[in-house]
Amino acid sequence: MYNTKLLAWGMLFLMMCTFLLPLSAAHAASTDSVLGTLASSTVASKDSGSGGSGFFEQVFGFLFDKVLGPIFNIFGGGKSSSGTSSPVNVIPLPSTPGDSAGGVGSTASLRGKVIVVDPGHGGSNPGAVANNDRESDNNLAVGLKLRDKLVQAGAKVIMTRDTDRTVAPEGSSLSEELEARVAMAEQQKADIFVSIHSNSNPDSNIAGAMTFYHGNKSPDLARAVQTALIKTTGAVDKGISPATFYVLRNTTMPGVLVEMGFVTNEQESVQLKNDAYRGKVAQGVFNGIAAYFDNR
Ligand SMILES: [Zn+2]
Repeated sequence: MYNTKLLAWGMLFLMMCTFLLPLSAAHAASTDSVLGTLASSTVASKDSGSGGSGFFEQVFGFLFDKVLGPIFNIFGGGKSSSGTSSPVNVIPLPSTPGDSAGGVGSTASLRGKVIVVDPGHGGSNPGAVANNDRESDNNLAVGLKLRDKLVQAGAKVIMTRDTDRTVAPEGSSLSEELEARVAMAEQQKADIFVSIHSNSNPDSNIAGAMTFYHGNKSPDLARAVQTALIKTTGAVDKGISPATFYVLRNTTMPGVLVEMGFVTNEQESVQLKNDAYRGKVAQGVFNGIAAYFDNR
């Protein structure tokens, strides 16, 4: 009775908050940088526009995941945060036996794998910008190179975007933009999700590559990618770290978010704009993915 009424009003209030959330993709980066980032353990990572790690994203991500989602059985319902078990629909294809020629792993294990490559930001949302280097451009260039390598190895690759654009229609909210990326991975029943980003930090001395994963879903994928990435690029190894980025939190398959380097570091921004270096980054991520599937 009374409690039921209270619950109903509470839910209505939460829904109002959610739908009135005044974040648009266009201003996501600046809004997030003002709000700061609450992503767990993302030391030296201020690339908050990317993963929706801003305060509001955290709060509303929680509301979606824990409150509204389970109640209405929308947003997939079971897309859970760390800890709780999630209904993993991924049915791994039988791995191709054989020609593991040592090193970074054979590419035979990639055959038939469904891989979503997600170049972060795009269109009206360039992500981090510094030293005349736009994050969205770096992300797209490396994403396309990664796609080519994966396709060549026989994987089925789905790009969330393959041009300089947003994934959701322009003018959509940040939540809609990120959900559109997640939805592609879920609809395609991808084996893994790989998001490509460039980092930024107020301290221009900070440089290096790092790879994020969520919960206990994919530390092994993150480790494989980070190891191979450092090997091909020679970048400063900032290691792997758990994080609550939206796209990692809400995808059911193993996923990683790769921060290739810092656009705010002058030297690294030059590298990130360089075609040959972008090729090395793509090769590193590719090698890591191959090694991951090879060891499964
Ligand atoms: Zn980003």
